[in-house]
Amino acid sequence: MQRNFCGLRLSVGSLMVVLVACSSSYAARAVRSSESGDSLTVVIDAGHGGHDRGGIPGQRVAEKNMTLDVAQRLRNVLSGAGYHVVMTRDSDVFVPLATRVAIANSYRNAIFVCIHFNATNRMGASGIETYFYSRDSLPLASAVHYYVTGGAPSANRGVRRRGYYVLRKTAIPAVLVECGFLTNPTEAAYAQTASYRQKLAEEIATGVRGRSSLGSASYIDQTKVAKSERHSSKRSHKKSARKKKSSSKPAGSEARSGSLNREA
Ligand SMILES: [Zn+2]
Repeated sequence: MQRNFCGLRLSVGSLMVVLVACSSSYAARAVRSSESGDSLTVVIDAGHGGHDRGGIPGQRVAEKNMTLDVAQRLRNVLSGAGYHVVMTRDSDVFVPLATRVAIANSYRNAIFVCIHFNATNRMGASGIETYFYSRDSLPLASAVHYYVTGGAPSANRGVRRRGYYVLRKTAIPAVLVECGFLTNPTEAAYAQTASYRQKLAEEIATGVRGRSSLGSASYIDQTKVAKSERHSSKRSHKKSARKKKSSSKPAGSEARSGSLNREA
């Protein structure tokens, strides 16, 4: 696992070659790493639901069920640690993105954690990605990604900045975790194991607890991809698909066209 955060497993020499934006207040922040829930509200958003299965057409494992299960497990872990937790959905129902955002924005001293699983038609794609948009969200994204990738056998596809609707519109620190590819047989098998989903929930919770102590990771900026897709999504799907094939999207990206104003 790639662990390239400030002060962790890095010699002085290796620090020079790692693109890490270390916070100057790292030492002071580290003291807070053992915080309990105190007054923080964690808004947990289980992706998709109801008629929206998530994933891609024909996908065998419904993403909406996996996201809800991990979200509920995360709720239990965080509640047990003393956090005030709010779920944007707690059953198999469809909740519009604007409603999810409105719920998140109705809380002060809160963070937003959105749970998804990835999908693609490309054979062999695997790994975990964590998205953020506002700079205030990067430490949370960094910490969640650090712990989730550290506890999972899947590849580390990095922290990514991208303008997904729920990340752009939330006024509180917000992250979206893609917990692996349900179109990958190995990762789909993991995802369908309760113990693995519990592990994911616990690692995300550890990231929430440690969000102020690890500084900020390097990240892949996909906001430019996002802009071009926002334009192309106004055209026909055919054109958008053609554009995607020839686009200069970042290596490894499984970003899907027109996904910015819907869920990941
Ligand atoms: Zn999704």
